[in-house]
Amino acid sequence: MPSGLKGGDSIKLTKRQKEILQIVKENGPITGKQIAEKLSLSRAALRPDLAILTMAGNLEAKPRVGYFLKEDYKLEGRHFTNQLVSEYKAHPIVILQSASVYDAIVQLFLEDVGTLYVVDEQGCLAGVISRKDLLRSALGNRNLNDLPVSVIMTRMPNIIMIRSEDTLLEAAKKMIDYHIDSLPVVREIQDHPRTYLVIGRITKTTITRAYLEMNEQ
Ligand code: ADP
Repeated sequence: MPSGLKGGDSIKLTKRQKEILQIVKENGPITGKQIAEKLSLSRAALRPDLAILTMAGNLEAKPRVGYFLKEDYKLEGRHFTNQLVSEYKAHPIVILQSASVYDAIVQLFLEDVGTLYVVDEQGCLAGVISRKDLLRSALGNRNLNDLPVSVIMTRMPNIIMIRSEDTLLEAAKKMIDYHIDSLPVVREIQDHPRTYLVIGRITKTTITRAYLEMNEQ
């Protein structure tokens, strides 16, 4: 190992060391054995390079998992895979299903949100109403004061939901898979299967903010 090498010091890398970093970047976490196979080398021949890259702070090794790029490793403690919805959820903005579309539009502006969660008289999730739903109903020549949101909302059981104990990664995936901007965070009511209380919201903004926070760590 070059003398005086500390984590983070930059060293001049050999061609093979650069190849190793590229492999770990594309495939990490990856074991030493797998890296050796990709380079058609023996593990013994690879060992000095792995030791140098680890000492120099380019790579990080984790027992039973393999090698990561140090940057990825630093982020690993706060990564989408282990961040919970409960830590990031915002207050849900709800409206009664009997409220008018006009009221929903006003509430959307007052609360500065893109989606409202529609609840029934017991406070249980009945549907979701988004900007486009409201714009669509405003295009028809109907009186928006007389039109209840329950008529135009996307309704149960078609609502995509998330729970507090789920991960941010699952939330992000659902929003992408279903082409929606937000997810109600729900809790099933005991002894009432498939009946949910809305206890929060996760939006694409939540995910973007979490991403920034994790990179600032
Ligand atoms: P926007 O209308 O502002 O583009 P979305 O993309 O979230 O907002 O909404 C697109 C459609 O999907 C709307 O009809 C809306 O009612 C519906 N929608 C929004 N969120 C959900 C959800 N969590 N589950 C099911 N449908 C949803």
